[in-house]
Amino acid sequence: MKMKEKKIVIVGAGVAGVNAATKLVDQGYPGELITIIDMGKDPYKRKPEEVMTGFLGAGGWSDGKLTYHTAIGGQLSKYCGEEKAMQLMDQVITNFKRFHPKPEEVQCSNPEAEPDFIKPYFGLRLFPVWHVGTDYLSEIGKNWYDYLVSKGVQFHWETKVSNINFRHNEVIMKSVKPEFANMDNDSMFYDELIFGVGKSGIDFAQELANKYELPDEPKSVQIGVRFEAPQKHFQKLIDISYDFKLYRKFEDKGVSLRSFCTNNNAAYVAVEETYGDHSYNGHAKKDMRYRNDMTNFGILMEINGIEDPFTWSRDVVNKLQFNGTGLYYSPTRIPSTTAEGNNVTAFQIDNLSGVENVMGEYWTYIMDFIEDMKKVFPTLQDDWGIYIPEVKYLSPEPLVSYRNLSLTKFSNVHFVGDALSARGITVSGAQAIYVAEDILSYYLRDTEYPEFISHYVA
Ligand SMILES: Cc1cc2nc3c(=O)[nH]c(=O)nc-3n(C[C@H](O)[C@H](O)[C@H](O)COP(=O)(O)OP(=O)(O)OC[C@H]3O[C@@H](n4cnc5c(N)ncnc54)[C@H](O)[C@@H]3O)c2cc1C
Repeated sequence: MKMKEKKIVIVGAGVAGVNAATKLVDQGYPGELITIIDMGKDPYKRKPEEVMTGFLGAGGWSDGKLTYHTAIGGQLSKYCGEEKAMQLMDQVITNFKRFHPKPEEVQCSNPEAEPDFIKPYFGLRLFPVWHVGTDYLSEIGKNWYDYLVSKGVQFHWETKVSNINFRHNEVIMKSVKPEFANMDNDSMFYDELIFGVGKSGIDFAQELANKYELPDEPKSVQIGVRFEAPQKHFQKLIDISYDFKLYRKFEDKGVSLRSFCTNNNAAYVAVEETYGDHSYNGHAKKDMRYRNDMTNFGILMEINGIEDPFTWSRDVVNKLQFNGTGLYYSPTRIPSTTAEGNNVTAFQIDNLSGVENVMGEYWTYIMDFIEDMKKVFPTLQDDWGIYIPEVKYLSPEPLVSYRNLSLTKFSNVHFVGDALSARGITVSGAQAIYVAEDILSYYLRDTEYPEFISHYVA
């Protein structure tokens, strides 16, 4: 095998970084040329409460539900096409099974077809989920780590990357261990950089984006309300899909709506404070002592084509405040209490004209959604309430080459996972494998990997 060997540095040993390294060494890339730097700990030292940092990153350590659909978990097929996306996600799932102490226990739940009763008003997004089992994640992590170490991959644990010089291919880092607090920064050079810092590194990613004036993808506005009603009205659908995702699309208007993050059984609405304003979200308690037989979910609109989505959303959220908090409207109900028994903070309004003034034409989409739910779930009638607003401020997505997720300004720097546009384990891992395949195809010159060569090298 002829191989042009280059030093690959991976920032972040999360789901993305680990899958990239695995693909590389699986295909014969020398592990000694791969360095992974992470501010968290290796899987032997990492504690369960260290949710965001360390080997396998965030969800790979604490949850482990592997969604298997290109419409869930962030952007993937946009870069590589639908068929390739599914193939890449398969590889991530295979990796989780491969290092699982009991792979036969990895189960796939695959809900049945859309029920007729929601048609023609809504679509229901159904997708398979592989359940790895939370209890096994720590063992998976250890097996996986041992494999990479056995292949020669170099790890720098408890080391935070504080700067990257994209022009000189240099990573600046420092140990976060208290005993090294007085040490100077260290640095390392790379030929190829894979940047997978996840949500815990989002501020760092933003710093770099600002510093290098990285262009980003146009983003949509994501805004709506948190809807709440007694669970009994939705039970028929919950029996089919616990976290149901109703959706509808108005392609010609650039607007789509979806129900988002459904909570049942012990379901509570929560206030979120962002940029000094209140908006709403929801969560469910596992402990059935908290059971309140309520359902809540976001009704979120995705609006495309607004020039500055962040400023627009901020302005709308700010105008939907009264007396220092968000709004609550219901034809019949009052705001619920939190899991702690306090009232959910919201100012109750008795009509929606003010909201309509702020949201303009977009408000109609939300009300139509609710009206059509009343048709699909006939007992619902006026037994519901909405907390206004719910908002998702999407972080900027750096503009990358769709061929290998490299920055358009720096072709040897590849962004992957949540640092790019992912929101889930499978997509994060898949993006990283996509990058690893490109690196492999570029450096492997023999026909040992004909599928890569024919795909990438003309
Ligand atoms: C509690 C929780 C549960 C979740 N459950 C699921 C689930 O069940 N299914 C699902 O699909 N998704 C889930 N997610 C989302 C999923 O975890 C992420 O989409 C995924 O982990 C992203 O992978 P990543 O590799 O991009 O980042 P991460 O997995 O977050 O890894 C990033 C790594 O980078 C390191 N890092 C960050 N900044 C620096 C720096 N400056 N220097 C050095 N190292 C740095 C961090 O220590 C971390 O280990 C969950 C998220 C959370 C928080």
